[in-house]
Amino acid sequence: RAKSDGRDGTRAFAAEMDKKARAITVLDSDMRRALAKKELVLHYQPQVNLASGRIVGAEALVRWRKDNGDLVSPADFLPQAEESGLIVPISEWVLNEACREAASWTRDGLPPLRVAVNLSAIQFRKQNVEQVVLDALGASGLESGRLELELTETILLHDTERVVHSLRALQAHGVTFSIDDFGTGYSSLSYVRNFPVNRLKIDRSFIRNLREDSNDVAIVRAIVNLGHSLNLDVIAEGVETAAQVGHLRAEGCDEVQGFYFGRPMPAADFIDLVRREAVVAQSA
Ligand code: C2E
Ligand code: MG
Ligand code: MG
Ligand code: MG
Repeated sequence: RAKSDGRDGTRAFAAEMDKKARAITVLDSDMRRALAKKELVLHYQPQVNLASGRIVGAEALVRWRKDNGDLVSPADFLPQAEESGLIVPISEWVLNEACREAASWTRDGLPPLRVAVNLSAIQFRKQNVEQVVLDALGASGLESGRLELELTETILLHDTERVVHSLRALQAHGVTFSIDDFGTGYSSLSYVRNFPVNRLKIDRSFIRNLREDSNDVAIVRAIVNLGHSLNLDVIAEGVETAAQVGHLRAEGCDEVQGFYFGRPMPAADFIDLVRREAVVAQSA
């Protein structure tokens, strides 16, 4: 009895694994097709300077627009793309598209806004990030000072020397770097010490309950002070309310990004938003 249960259990497990493997394969070939058929799009989320109240940049966030019209969130396909390695061509596409679009905004009369692009740890393992970034800048004509690259802990955790070397080389060209989701990592403080970055991006988990949670108040204050002591700018992500904006301004936080100022939106909507803002500023 016990024996046959065990065998059934094994068989069920194998069937489950098989199903999973097949689902992964399907997603994989779907994603390859998405890249080839240009089904990926970038949305842009405004980043606002608290001193001027103006939009100073945007984070480029990838979405997958399926042919049935569905918009798939990066959380639902990037993890798998990281496993299969498809993240490398996807990231390269994102970088080139973001640089190309941002360069076209200035030709359309917009101010020289910054564009922030997320990097993946796999890229540092599998390609020459420095060359890929320089190629994207060259091909698009975007001024290098307008490109910011967002780094996460998984990048900063491994192969420190090689990553530092790439960052320094790109910084020499004027590219800037931020540490994304700052404060959530295993050793956020050592990242600040070991990596040449320009900006800290306070994770939205510290912003969410900022008004009620005195621990979060203390942590946000500490990150802003840490950043400023080290000559780094500080931006907060996930800002959803006027009260959070007021709090962050009072703490001296430099910039904010979040639903309060705008959800990630198609490039055309972002351009409209910047134009409307310019009109308001002129008539004020
Ligand atoms: P992230 O870099 O921390 O990106 C910010 C995420 O927070 C975005 O989710 C954005 O929609 C969301 N968000 C922004 N403001 C608010 C807010 O006020 N409230 C709440 N609740 N959420 C807010 P999204 O676009 O789903 O992206 C999720 C993650 O996917 C990103 O986290 C980023 O790590 C990754 N990602 C997106 N695009 C790319 C990409 O092109 N390359 C790589 N490597 N990763 C990407
Ligand atoms: Mg990011
Ligand atoms: Mg975050
Ligand atoms: Mg983030």
